[in-house]
Amino acid sequence: MTQLNKKIPATLIPGDGIGPEVVEATVRVLDALGQPFEWDVKQAGVAGVEAEGDPLPASTLASIRERRLALKGPLATPIGGGFRSSNVRLREEFELYANVRPASTLVPGRFEDIDLVLFRENLGGFYVSHEYYIPVGDDPKAVAVSTGMNTREGSKRIARYAFEYAIKNNRKKITIVHKANILKALTGIFLEAAREVAKEYEGRVEVDDMIVDACAMQLVLNPWRFDMLLCTNLFGDILSDQIAGLVGGLGMAPGANIGKDVAIFEAVHGTAPDIAGKGLANPISLLLAAAMMLDHVDMKDKGDRLRAAIYAVLNEDNIRTGDLKGTATTREFTDAICRRLAD
Ligand code: ATP
Ligand code: MG
Repeated sequence: MTQLNKKIPATLIPGDGIGPEVVEATVRVLDALGQPFEWDVKQAGVAGVEAEGDPLPASTLASIRERRLALKGPLATPIGGGFRSSNVRLREEFELYANVRPASTLVPGRFEDIDLVLFRENLGGFYVSHEYYIPVGDDPKAVAVSTGMNTREGSKRIARYAFEYAIKNNRKKITIVHKANILKALTGIFLEAAREVAKEYEGRVEVDDMIVDACAMQLVLNPWRFDMLLCTNLFGDILSDQIAGLVGGLGMAPGANIGKDVAIFEAVHGTAPDIAGKGLANPISLLLAAAMMLDHVDMKDKGDRLRAAIYAVLNEDNIRTGDLKGTATTREFTDAICRRLAD
C-alpha cells in the first residue's frame, strides 16, 4: 500500500519569463491529481544567474542527475558574458537525444483533427554549431562559416526511439524529413540510418521520406497525410513550431527531452517576455508536458485524465486564455482545470 502511494522524486525548474506562472499552474493541477511527484525546486536560466551566478547551477544539475526526471519552465539565455543556451547544455549534459513534440487539435481552428508527433534529433546537426568568420581585405567578417555534424549511431538511435514509440503507441507511419539532395552528407547520413532502422520494423510501421521544403508545404496543404515526423535537429526545431501553429500556437505545444537515463519535460515555447508577469500566459503547453511526464512514469490514466480536463475546459466550459481568443487569466484557466479534476 505504502509502495503504491509513494511519490516519484522529480526536479522542478520554474525558469524565466512566463515560466514561474505556468509552472505554478501546472503544480496546482498536479496537486488536484493527487500530486504524483515529490518536487525538488531548482533554478536555471536568468533565475539561476540571480540565485547562484550560473544559468545552470551545479546544484540544479546534481538534482536532475539524482532524480533523473524533471519538469522545467522556459529558460532565457543571459545576454552578454558568453553564456551558451542552458537548454542546449542540458540536452548535452544528460545526452537527451530524443525530443518528442506532439501536436493535436484541442480547439476548433484553421485545421481539424490534427494528430501528429514530431521527433527531433536533439544533439547533432547544425546545433553542434562550430561557427566562424573568415576575414577578407579590411572586412573581418567577410565570410561566415557554420558546420554541422550527424553521426550514423546518433541518427540510428533517434530513429529507433521513434519506431519503438510508433509500436508502443499504435502509430502507423513515419516520415523521415531531410534535405539529402543538397546537404548530401549531413542529412544524407540521417536518411540512410533511418531507412536502415526502418527495415527492422518492416510490416509493422509504414515509412516514407520527404525533403524538408516539400514537407513544410504539405503540412499546410494536407497535414492529415502525416502521422509521425522524424527530423534532424534544425528541421525539427522549425517544423515543430509549424505543427504547433496548426493546432493553435505555441501555447498548445508540449515537448519531452529523452535520454537513456534522464527525461526532462517542457513547453515548446520560450519565455514570452511580452506577456511575462501579467498572468496572461496559456499554461496548456506545460500541462500537456506534465501529461507526457505522467505517461512516462506509467501513470497514463492520470495523463489521460489531465488531457480530458483540458479538452473539457476549452470546449465545454469555453474558458480560454487570450492567445486562443478567450478572456481567462492563467489563474482562472487553472482554477477551471482543477474544478474539472475534482468532479
Ligand atoms: P524566447 O527568446 O525565450 O524564445 P520569445 O520572445 O521568442 O522568447 P516565445 O516564448 O518563443 O517568445 O513565444 C513567441 C510569442 O508567442 C510570445 O511573444 C507570446 O506572445 C506567444 N506565446 C508563447 N508562449 C505562450 C503562452 N504559453 N501563452 C500565450 N502566448 C504565448
Ligand atoms: Mg522563441
